[in-house]
Amino acid sequence: MTLVPLAEAQARVLSRIEPLAAESVPLGEARGLVLAQPVAARENIPPFANTGMDGFAVRAGDTAGATSDAPVALTIAGTIAAGAVADRPLAAGEAMRIMTGAPIPEGADAVIMVELTRPDPSGHDTVVLCRAEVPLGNHIRPSGDDLLAGTAVFSPGEVLSPAHIGMLATLGYSEVLVIRRPRVGVFSTGDELITGPQALGPGQIRDSNRPQLLALLDEAGLHPVDLGWLPDDEIAIEEALRKGAETCDALVTSGGVSMGDFDFVKTILQRLGDMNWMQIAIKPAKPFAFGSVLDTPIFGLPGNPVSSAVSFELLARPALLTMMGRPDTQRRHVWALADEPMPRRPDGKTHYVRVTVTDSVDGAPRVRSAGNQGSHQLSGLANANGLAAVPDGDGLATGDRVNVLLL
Ligand code: AMP
Ligand code: MG
Repeated sequence: MTLVPLAEAQARVLSRIEPLAAESVPLGEARGLVLAQPVAARENIPPFANTGMDGFAVRAGDTAGATSDAPVALTIAGTIAAGAVADRPLAAGEAMRIMTGAPIPEGADAVIMVELTRPDPSGHDTVVLCRAEVPLGNHIRPSGDDLLAGTAVFSPGEVLSPAHIGMLATLGYSEVLVIRRPRVGVFSTGDELITGPQALGPGQIRDSNRPQLLALLDEAGLHPVDLGWLPDDEIAIEEALRKGAETCDALVTSGGVSMGDFDFVKTILQRLGDMNWMQIAIKPAKPFAFGSVLDTPIFGLPGNPVSSAVSFELLARPALLTMMGRPDTQRRHVWALADEPMPRRPDGKTHYVRVTVTDSVDGAPRVRSAGNQGSHQLSGLANANGLAAVPDGDGLATGDRVNVLLL
C-alpha cells in the first residue's frame, strides 16, 4: 500500500468540502463566525460631538492667557451629564460642567479638563477658575470622527472577533448574516470502550477520544454534538451514521478504519458512498477514511487517542473550518530549534512529535519532547503545546531547525 503524502490527503479532503449556507444570527452567537454580508455605517460614529474628558465646556477664546498664577474666571451656567443635552447655548464668559460622553453645548468650542480648573476661592460655587489656556477643539470628539455615515466598514469573509461584535452593536445591528456554524457529530466505536467511572472489566478501556474530539471541536468554534458510542457492529454503525448524517453537517468517528477484522467504519463508508481510504505518510495517524453519507462529510479517524487527535488536527479541522467559511483554517506554525536530539528511523513518513515549545531569549523558540511518544500514550500529548514535524530520515540533532504546529 503506497503512503499518501499529507498535503495530497489534505487536498483530496478539501476538494470535496464546501462552505455552508449563510443565516442570520443574534450578535451574541456570532463570534468566530464568518460574515456573509457587507456592513456599512448607517449613521455617524460618534453620532454627535462630545467630550472625551470630565471638565468644563468653554469658548477657547475665553481662556486666552490663563495660567495657574493668573487664572481666568468663568461663570458656571449648568451641568451636562452623559445622556443629557444642555438646555441652552453657552454664552461668552461662561462654562458648563460636562461629563465624558456628554454632547458639547452649542456655543462651546473646547473642553478644559477638571484637573486644570479650581473652585473660586471666594466661595462662589457659580464661578470656576481656569488655570490654563485651551486650544480650539480641545478634548472634543467630533461627530463621525470614527466612521462617517455611509462608510463601508466590514466585507463578507471577515471572521467576527469580539471587536467586530462591538462595532456591529455600535452600528445598530442586533443580528448579522454569517456562514452557519457546522454541527459536527462525534461517535466513538469499539467493543472495548466504556464511559464513566465504573471498574474496568477484562479487556476494557475508557473512551477518551469522544470527549477529546468534542473538546477539539468546541475549541475550533464548531458546534460539537455528542452522538455516543457504537459497538463494533456493522448494522449498528451503519444505522448510526445514517441518523447522524440527517441531523449534523459533518460526522467524526474514531476507531474502525484500520486493518483489523472489526474495522467496520471503513467497510460501511466503502459501501455507502465514495469513500477515500488512505494510508497517510505520517506518524501517528496513518490510517484515515473520508467519505460521505447523504452528502454529509464523514471523517473516519483512527482509534489510538494520539492518532485520533493528530488526524483531527491535520485533516478534519481544516476541512470543518472551511465549511464554516473561515479563511484561517490552519493553526499557527513556527520554526523552532531542537533543544535536544530527536532521533528516529527512516520509514517514509513525517513524524509529528509531541513537543513543548518555549520562548527563547534570542528569538527562536526551542522544542523538547513532551514525554511519551506512543500513539496510545495521551500523557505526552497532554503535556505538549506543539507538534514538531520531523521529516523522514534519522531525526534531529540539537540545534536543528524544525517546523512546529502550535496547539
Ligand atoms: P482501532 O482504530 O479501532 O483499531 O483502535 C486502535 C486502538 O485505539 C485500540 O487500542 C483501541 O482500543 C483504541 N481506541 C479506539 N477507540 C478509542 C477511544 N474512543 N478511546 C480510547 N482508545 C480508543
Ligand atoms: Mg476499534
